[in-house]
Amino acid sequence: MPELPEVETIKRGIEPHILGQTIDRLEIREHRLRWPVPRELPALLRARRIVALARRGKYILLGTDGGTLLLHLGMSGSLRVTPKDQAISKHDHIDVLFTNGCCLRYHDPRRFGALVWTQDNPLQHPLLASLGREPLDGGFSGAYLYAAACGLKTSVKNFIMDSHIIAGVGNIYANEALYRAAIDPRRSAGQISRKRYRRLAESIRWVLIRAIELGGTTLRDFVNESGSPGYFQQTLQAYGREGLPCQRCSTLITRVRLGQRSTFYCSRCQQR
Ligand SMILES: [Zn+2]
Repeated sequence: MPELPEVETIKRGIEPHILGQTIDRLEIREHRLRWPVPRELPALLRARRIVALARRGKYILLGTDGGTLLLHLGMSGSLRVTPKDQAISKHDHIDVLFTNGCCLRYHDPRRFGALVWTQDNPLQHPLLASLGREPLDGGFSGAYLYAAACGLKTSVKNFIMDSHIIAGVGNIYANEALYRAAIDPRRSAGQISRKRYRRLAESIRWVLIRAIELGGTTLRDFVNESGSPGYFQQTLQAYGREGLPCQRCSTLITRVRLGQRSTFYCSRCQQR
């Protein structure tokens, strides 16, 4: 599933191709995504110019001169910039064709993605308004996490994956950040000290920034905007490493289920 670094990587990858460009037309071959793609979307987008690209959580915001298209990649969505005459493959559901001849192609085998149009302030849209803080922005800190965790009995891993607390941290990066901060993912969020939350906030930022620098993680059905795999997966230290030695202490990495999600940790390094 694309997580924050993949979405940021895609946003940065498509930006130079479409920013400032004018939309010629939209071709929708499949309306049935997570929510039906609005029938009127081609008419709404025709001749609009892309004036800004942004990311909020796992949403890409395509700002035009007449409104904003919110795009979520769901479980298996991807975006590519292709020439307009590139052959269409299975699951290539939507093309945004630009007057400069380039095409932004949305591909999504599982169809959990979404395209939503708004003419209001996109950050106030119901899908975005309740999202928690952006982990790469200035308002995110250990003090923020510590205050938000006060009294919570939920596990710290589920706490940092809660999109109302932090926008865009999914399972892979939660595992990696807790490993780096040496925190037991099963511990109650409310029992962790302010000092350890400072370390956790730094770890979350570190793993996300590093993943963005390396072009995101590749997991089965994710490819980046150029179609080549990301490199972060090769540097994962906890996620997916069940039974392999911890790179710090050589204890074998353990896997448990936590909140229905696979959780990987070192039972020696992550005891607190
Ligand atoms: Zn260890």
